[in-house]
Amino acid sequence: MSHAERLHNQIEETKLAVYLRVGGTCQACGKQVGPAGHCGHVIPQSQIDRFGPEVIHHPLNMKWVCSLKCNHAIEISCKGHPVAANAHADMIRAEILLEEGVR
Ligand SMILES: [Zn+2]
Repeated sequence: MSHAERLHNQIEETKLAVYLRVGGTCQACGKQVGPAGHCGHVIPQSQIDRFGPEVIHHPLNMKWVCSLKCNHAIEISCKGHPVAANAHADMIRAEILLEEGVR
């Protein structure tokens, strides 16, 4: 399996994990959307250079949303909320360290 394929599988698995975690409920408006919803990033993908793919694509940086509007509502942009974005990234990094410790 190529690196790109592995990354793709990892992202698909992450989406499934997020979907199962919330049972298909939109985490912004609470509407039940089921598989028709999609995975939104809390810290947006545009900030991948700053936080790294391991934080951006982590399940804790994903929420299940029903629309672009709701996707926008769950976002913690580093421009608008730099302190909150850093705190969220720190929480995910701590979780990654814990996961690595368990392995
Ligand atoms: Zn919604």
